[in-house]
Amino acid sequence: MEPYPFAAHGKNQKGIGKLFYPYFGFMITRIAPTPSGFLHPGNIFNFLLNWHWARQHGGKVLLRIDDADVERKRPEYVDDIFRVLEWLDMDWDIGPTGPDDLDQNWSQQHRRSLYDDSLLELRNKSLVYACSCTRTQLASEPCHCQDKKLDLDTAGLAWRIPTRGEIILFTDRVIGEVKHYLPLQHSFVVRRKDGIAAYHLASLADDRHFGVTHIARGEDLLPSTAMQLHIDDLLDQQYLRRCGFWHHPLILGDQGNKLSKSAGDMGRSIRTYIKKEQLLASFERWAGFDKKDRKEIFAL
Ligand SMILES: [Zn+2]
Repeated sequence: MEPYPFAAHGKNQKGIGKLFYPYFGFMITRIAPTPSGFLHPGNIFNFLLNWHWARQHGGKVLLRIDDADVERKRPEYVDDIFRVLEWLDMDWDIGPTGPDDLDQNWSQQHRRSLYDDSLLELRNKSLVYACSCTRTQLASEPCHCQDKKLDLDTAGLAWRIPTRGEIILFTDRVIGEVKHYLPLQHSFVVRRKDGIAAYHLASLADDRHFGVTHIARGEDLLPSTAMQLHIDDLLDQQYLRRCGFWHHPLILGDQGNKLSKSAGDMGRSIRTYIKKEQLLASFERWAGFDKKDRKEIFAL
């Protein structure tokens, strides 16, 4: 295998430890792919936006590979992440230098204690309940397990946080003031049945761990931001509350469909079906480089 060109990055920094602030005081954005499929144009545009945003301000970029779900993680998808970033000449300051470094030092598996700390705190504050619902049950009716008071230590049960229509307020740099209502009589999972921390909780713990200060993500993730802010509030961390948010429009396919894994995944690396110049040019049009000064686009 050819060496990855960014092997010099992150060589003295490890993803393990309590709090990770080698770049305290810097703006830090993140590129956070999940190795459960090949990267699609939607991922790439998001990565480029985060990358430019940081670089415009002398900030740092974290490469965080969200590999908590070991069942869906595949070596070819991990490899694709490094190959595509190399192909696009995108560098990063914090994060793994390649697949081996990921497994040895930066995998989310190494930060399970970090997620468990958050889960324990939620448990100690009596903010979670155990749920035994199956997928089939949840398809027909909402979870009512809170009334059953199931033992949180029973193996094979998920942990959920109930929501009661709480109002989550936050500021997005483009949308402005966002007022999001969490669903009424609803709940969301923070620990899966297999004991793995759910995405929202792990993502929040990781962002805090690595000192991420600015997050650009698709506008379809607004509810996700609200849930993460809710967990941040419940944990009384005031961490995510201090982050800058940018929810950008989704990148649509030719048929106006969302380019997600189902719509955009060709079953092979993007490097094999789009020319780099073409991809970068369409990113620049999408980001408005032809209409506005970059300083203005990426202003804080
Ligand atoms: Zn349930």
